[in-house]
Amino acid sequence: MIAALGQGRVFRAHDCADLPRDKGAYVLLIELDSAFTGRFSGRDFTLPAGHYAYCGSAHGPGGIAARVSRHFRCEKKPHWHIDQLTIAAREITARVFPGGNECDLAARLGNAGAEPPLPGFGSSDCRSCTSHLLALR
Ligand SMILES: [Zn+2]
Repeated sequence: MIAALGQGRVFRAHDCADLPRDKGAYVLLIELDSAFTGRFSGRDFTLPAGHYAYCGSAHGPGGIAARVSRHFRCEKKPHWHIDQLTIAAREITARVFPGGNECDLAARLGNAGAEPPLPGFGSSDCRSCTSHLLALR
């Protein structure tokens, strides 16, 4: 399913220094080794253990490097919905796409059969996607 993303350099948490500072998009591949219960839109949700992909964009200062290295940090004040998962994750890797678009990446995964487990999660400012979080099988 990940093959649907095509090319995209793979980074792990210890590779942060090499992350590109370009603006663009990235996919976090998040592994949950047990079911996770969090809160979204005023209600509790539970995601089963498994692999998830979160598609995000980085257009701020420091570009992809700044955004992805924040996602990799275990200790952070939760700000986005996805922070709940990255804090709970057993492992996170990132594929980065300088100049890329997160909706395009989400669509590619969706076309490959990935399903959004929580409509609206991670995509509250997007009108075209059901969610920027997808469950991988
Ligand atoms: Zn979108």
